[in-house]
Amino acid sequence: MANQLDYLHQLNAQFEQLWQQMNTKLTTQEYGAVLGYIAAFSYNTVTSVQRITGLLGLDSALAEEVLSRLTTIGVLQSENGIRCPECNLLFGKIENVNDLEREMFCYGCDSNVEIGASDIEVIYTLQRKC
Ligand SMILES: [Zn+2]
Repeated sequence: MANQLDYLHQLNAQFEQLWQQMNTKLTTQEYGAVLGYIAAFSYNTVTSVQRITGLLGLDSALAEEVLSRLTTIGVLQSENGIRCPECNLLFGKIENVNDLEREMFCYGCDSNVEIGASDIEVIYTLQRKC
């Protein structure tokens, strides 16, 4: 698919920027792992510091820096996800953390659950180009 190829070319160019910015911090192996991981993303893929830490074995400070730099160079976008404190499902997003309601409906629990600031998790998805 031509679009997929364009996407990969674009991604490669952006990853070179990331590598130049981070080559004293990431090992070649870690960089390769991040590149392979993100290249397999679809627009439905959601990741977070926690997930990167577990999957790629980066420590959380490094994972956070990788994600924030990928956001700066236009690969990823960040949003506030809401994780259910009862069933641990990421069931929604919120634009402004101040708009957080105390009770929200979780489709995992099929009921209303109490939500607090600690249930907000920064999540990352691919930035849409069009
Ligand atoms: Zn739930």
